[in-house]
Amino acid sequence: MIEEGTRIIMADGQIKDIADVTVNSYVMCEDGSSSRVTSVSKDVQTVYNVTQRTRHRAYEGEPGRIDPLRRQIYQRLEINCTATHRLNLRTLTKPTLENSFKRNHYVVKWKRMHNVTTIDGRVISIPKIHHKDFLMTPEGEVAAKLFLTQLQEEFGPQFNYNLELRDIDYLSTQICQTTMLHYTPLLTGNGILSEFLTGQKHLITPYTLSMAWLLGLWLGDGTTKKPEISVDSIDTNLMHSLIQLGSLWGLDAVYKECPVPLRAKHVRLYYGKGSPKERKFRKDNIFWNILLDLRFKREDDGVKQIPEFMWTEDVEIREALLAGLIDSDGYVMKTTPNSDIFIVSIPTIYPSIMEGIVNIARSLGMTATVTTKSAKQNVIENRQIQCKFAYECTISGKTSLQNVLSYCRSGLKHREPPEEVIRNPVYFGFNIEPSSQKNTVGLAIEDNKQILLENKICIPVCTKQCEKEQPKLTVTKNLKQCIACPRKGVRYFYKDWTGDHRVCARCHGRYKFSGHRCLNCKYVPEAREVRKAVAKGPKAIVSPDGIVVRGLECIRCSGILVFDEIRGPKKINASPNPIMAI
Ligand SMILES: [Zn+2]
Ligand SMILES: [Zn+2]
Ligand SMILES: [Zn+2]
Repeated sequence: MIEEGTRIIMADGQIKDIADVTVNSYVMCEDGSSSRVTSVSKDVQTVYNVTQRTRHRAYEGEPGRIDPLRRQIYQRLEINCTATHRLNLRTLTKPTLENSFKRNHYVVKWKRMHNVTTIDGRVISIPKIHHKDFLMTPEGEVAAKLFLTQLQEEFGPQFNYNLELRDIDYLSTQICQTTMLHYTPLLTGNGILSEFLTGQKHLITPYTLSMAWLLGLWLGDGTTKKPEISVDSIDTNLMHSLIQLGSLWGLDAVYKECPVPLRAKHVRLYYGKGSPKERKFRKDNIFWNILLDLRFKREDDGVKQIPEFMWTEDVEIREALLAGLIDSDGYVMKTTPNSDIFIVSIPTIYPSIMEGIVNIARSLGMTATVTTKSAKQNVIENRQIQCKFAYECTISGKTSLQNVLSYCRSGLKHREPPEEVIRNPVYFGFNIEPSSQKNTVGLAIEDNKQILLENKICIPVCTKQCEKEQPKLTVTKNLKQCIACPRKGVRYFYKDWTGDHRVCARCHGRYKFSGHRCLNCKYVPEAREVRKAVAKGPKAIVSPDGIVVRGLECIRCSGILVFDEIRGPKKINASPNPIMAI
């Protein structure tokens, strides 16, 4: 069963709450085909949150403490389902050759699918790790390498299998680390824009593509009051393209020269040529009508948005819209010279545009993440400028993104199209945490296929097991909590000041180099936070046992920071005990 409120993609590209799906309607499957819903059931069951493992540090450090808006991780991939619902997993098989100097052996480790009996007597098939020792001699090394290549041929690069959520606990921690869920590119589309423009769905012509590009450009740099787009005049390619592509639709791109010429030109898109009275601006202007009728301007408050139908548009239309957005607001980041990966960053202040960019990028087979920037006052060329809270969408991909950039018109952003566009599913690691009792919905479909959630995650439909709440008998194991930050993890915990392995890699790194930690909340400050504390000067507090402790102030809890001299930049190895400043 899947939690009510989870949105899934229907066969026609519409996005629907799973609770509103009815029997005999059609849902979209992983491969883009459609399948009939044969049954819908509802129940109240315990829900588990399966969330994407990210490297965001939203809860750590200063930015998140100062600006609560930055604590949230935006557009994190997730599934909320019950303990008995199946997940489609992939585990990398890659066999390894390790040196075990302790035992004076080479060890080859590999994985194989095994049948295991659960506590409640079901037989499940999961990957398990095997290992074989070889003598640490030249002959032993040859034999180990030969064995390794044999394994690689036998097992291929990965195992794909379905497993009930509650049974993931039977995977060893090492296997958990290499086990992933995936989302998949969407290869079919709804053709709504084409139908609106031409009366016929799925027409991919220079005309429909140019309109999608113009819409993207407006979403980036347009004004919401009128059909007007500001364009950097130095970028002559971009200005020229706007005039040329606009003319395909009878749009006349005109801008007035100000007395003091500004770099950014406000280009108005008039419909029809002729005297100022004959041409249309806000009335009967095809471009303005699209913005209003297809809801690129939100109905209630007129704010810019990427309407939801765009997320499941035809592939080429999605690409052209994204290219327009990149042409206006995005920048192409430098990657290493021989890399075939492209990275583009698009900042926006509108949540709905951020959401649209992420969804469209993922639907084209790219990865997308969102970071944030706090609102602040900036001075640019002696003018006070109020910068609003902004989202920074970073998308990356190989040929999939290269193809989008081939639609771009700006000289700096345009790239040659790839010979072939390859769109593969994108895999990601995940964590599972129990939630509470929730309303859940179960679906069954005619074909033996997986359905697609709004975020393009593929998930199998329900089985008989799903009907009633089943107990989750095992406990999720080994989730260790870092003592210095809210990070939870499975592996890689390091020695703290007491000598126990209790801090995460990140806190350990900071502690190793700065040597500072808080006596009260155990927080390990960043170098800049230490500098700030030093600038503020030391203070004194009375500890619970009546001793006056002097030291720098902890930025997080106003406690006292101590400096352990065995750590830090000029560490001395003499004293194993932390030295306190008293
Ligand atoms: Zn289910
Ligand atoms: Zn930590
Ligand atoms: Zn503290």
